[in-house]
Amino acid sequence: MPRQPFIRPAIRRMAGYVPGEQPQGGGFIKLNTNENPYPPSAAVRQAIADCAGEDVRLYPDPMANALRDAAARCYGLSREQILAGNGSDDLLAMIMRLCVDPGDRVVYPMPTYSLYDTLVEIAGGTIVHLAWPADWALPADVAAANGRVTIICNPNAPSGTFVPVEALDRLAREVAGLLVIDEAYVDFAADSALRLVRQHDNLLVLRTLSKSFSLAGMRVGLAFGQPQLIDELAKVKDSYNLSRVSIAAGTAALSDADTVRAHVARVAATRARLIAGLRGLGYAVPDSQANFVLARRPGVDQRPIYDALKARKILVRYFNADGLRDALRITVGTDAEIDALLAALGDQHAH
Ligand code: PMP
Repeated sequence: MPRQPFIRPAIRRMAGYVPGEQPQGGGFIKLNTNENPYPPSAAVRQAIADCAGEDVRLYPDPMANALRDAAARCYGLSREQILAGNGSDDLLAMIMRLCVDPGDRVVYPMPTYSLYDTLVEIAGGTIVHLAWPADWALPADVAAANGRVTIICNPNAPSGTFVPVEALDRLAREVAGLLVIDEAYVDFAADSALRLVRQHDNLLVLRTLSKSFSLAGMRVGLAFGQPQLIDELAKVKDSYNLSRVSIAAGTAALSDADTVRAHVARVAATRARLIAGLRGLGYAVPDSQANFVLARRPGVDQRPIYDALKARKILVRYFNADGLRDALRITVGTDAEIDALLAALGDQHAH
């Protein structure tokens, strides 16, 4: 048979998602992918160790019910209002599978989490970018953009800024389709849209255990919505989308909220120091309700600064994207890590 093209043209055209660098050797101060600088508790690590026994020959529970029940207890909801994902990235992919046919509009303000573009392109949907205004308030034209799916990342990445929950409540009523609130970073913020799931049957709230719960390596995400919507979402998930080890880790972590609260408080205190230090160096930094900050020198490409920091084994995030080249996104690390970063940045800006 003559060979035929077998890659979809839509895929050939797309840029693809570029995740942050993950150096596998040691020695880096890693402030580039918004992980938690503090480890999960001993109890969580023990639950992971206990799980990795003979039972790994058996498939995991396809619905991860132990994890859903732990999340239900933690958040005061029912199991039926929760679906687990292999990270919240997996849940975002499920949402596209569930809702987006070729040509369907998917709406979100930019800049935001760059995986959304990739997932819409894979689905063959139509990306509809709106612009965040200078003050990072919810744009006025979100509902009018008429998305099959509308996504608001809150706190937003990479800005760290937060849209008041009342504005999201109104938006859920106004949009014609599904509203997704991506709350990956919400434990570092003062409020959350989780309470809205009881009021809207077109709302999904996404959380992850990768950030506040210190489990990025375990891949555990949670979607919250009304039971009918959660049932539909479950139809398009991979059959065994969480491993036994992930389920055990997530279940233990959700039962250990005190550790998370303590780590979040430390991160918030360090975040205030980081923002003050960066502003002292002349960076414009919006107030952040996440575990990272966006530091901007308007019009000045930050690539050389990123390179100089990397040469000193400090990794931050540089985005080679329109409107973001004059900014660095910096994860809130430990106090010692942030001291090292500020000292290195101070050296750069001294000459
Ligand atoms: N949403 C946002 C806004 C993120 O920054 C991330 C982390 N890269 C995710 C979702 C996905 O997180 P995970 O898949 O680790 O749960």
